[in-house]
Amino acid sequence: MPEPDTPLSARPWEDVERMLGVDEALECVLAAFAPLPAVSLPILDAEGLVLAEDLVAAADVPPFRNSAMDGYAVRADDTTGATHDAPVRLRVVGALAAGHEATLLVSPGTAARIMTGAPMPEGADAVVRFEETDETAYGPGRVGGPHRFEIGIQRAAKSWHNVRAPGEDVRAGATVLTAGTRLRPPEIGVLAALNRGCALVHRRPRVAILSTGDEVIDVGPVLRPGQIRNSNSYTLAAMVKRAGGCPVLLGIARDTVADLTDKLAAARESDLIVTSGGVSLGDYDMVKDVLQAEGEIAIWQVRMKPGKPLAFGRIGDKPLLGLPGNPAAAAVSFEQFGRPAILKMLGRHDLTPPTIEATLLERLDNRGQRRHFVRARVEGNERDGYTVRTAGDQGAGVLTSLARANGLLVVPESLDVAEPGMRLAVQMVDWDRG
Ligand code: AMP
Ligand code: MG
Repeated sequence: MPEPDTPLSARPWEDVERMLGVDEALECVLAAFAPLPAVSLPILDAEGLVLAEDLVAAADVPPFRNSAMDGYAVRADDTTGATHDAPVRLRVVGALAAGHEATLLVSPGTAARIMTGAPMPEGADAVVRFEETDETAYGPGRVGGPHRFEIGIQRAAKSWHNVRAPGEDVRAGATVLTAGTRLRPPEIGVLAALNRGCALVHRRPRVAILSTGDEVIDVGPVLRPGQIRNSNSYTLAAMVKRAGGCPVLLGIARDTVADLTDKLAAARESDLIVTSGGVSLGDYDMVKDVLQAEGEIAIWQVRMKPGKPLAFGRIGDKPLLGLPGNPAAAAVSFEQFGRPAILKMLGRHDLTPPTIEATLLERLDNRGQRRHFVRARVEGNERDGYTVRTAGDQGAGVLTSLARANGLLVVPESLDVAEPGMRLAVQMVDWDRG
């Protein structure tokens, strides 16, 4: 946990001067995280994770010289001057299929029928495709079956044409992937090609998720008067999963210090605790009290909208991100602070969401010197340009406008009004971040 610049006052949440801007708050949050230790995982389980070692090739890929085409392995010199009308005739000495050792010798004046991937026979230095022989005129032959005694080569071959050299893709001893590389499908294939069934990667963070509130009831029972459904646990768990973490649902804590403390005890094995609710100034907002009693508060309130109430600190030695209870505010705040923290633990370098510039289509008020993350709908494309408009009601509790949004339009704290036609940044929250 980084040391705050100034000592914490006894009741820091009342100290408005200490309210951080979004950038400072993010810096403070990120300083508390480092890439997690490396674990060895089966390569398919490592997809999307970040390699924690350099990968040095133990062998060439491909391991041997082989044909890149179905055709005839020849000596290029033998084919000089060959044309469609004046083919060079070579004696066929046999056929070579992929998966078998090449036992034939192609001596001057001969050729071997060869399939893609089959080892090149000794003596041959080029492959002439079937389409450039007169074999097609006689119909396809079959490997292992009767072979034409002679083949007409209709085009001069260049040395090593249609031949794959050993190590053409990867040379033994070369560093193919470096630590810090994110394993996407092609990298998974490279690992397999190098006979690596497992890869050393930064492990996924375990993120404990705890909702708070006497009124909050989980999915299932009928709601009694005054009660609301717990949506935050599920939104946040899905966001954790999407960011690459493993969510651990701790349920719902009642608004008492005792229940909060008790429920948080179950988070001991986690790398980050995310709570929702209980961080405002209400009588029953207890998260700050628990943080103060059991650990430390580093951030209390951020100059953003939605999501001004936001706590960050630690319980014991576990970082805790205390999100506001309002569902849209919780999700937007998680996007700004929770996701980057998870990405940093995963060893990722690209911690910010993909951001585009779009032309605003409507007027937006932004009083209060806070950065406003507006749930927004972006249309257009990179070539013709993007436009952006709001995706509905911006109330902190309105989750469906976030569901309708494909981005978060960022209205800077310095702007009291954003006018139509302005070019503004939009975080594309639903773009595939692969
Ligand atoms: P709080 O920050 O605890 O004052 O909560 C702010 C608002 O968010 C209140 O209206 C709560 O009922 C609502 N809220 C809190 N937790 C959740 C939750 N887990 N799911 C849905 N809404 C919630
Ligand atoms: Mg509450």
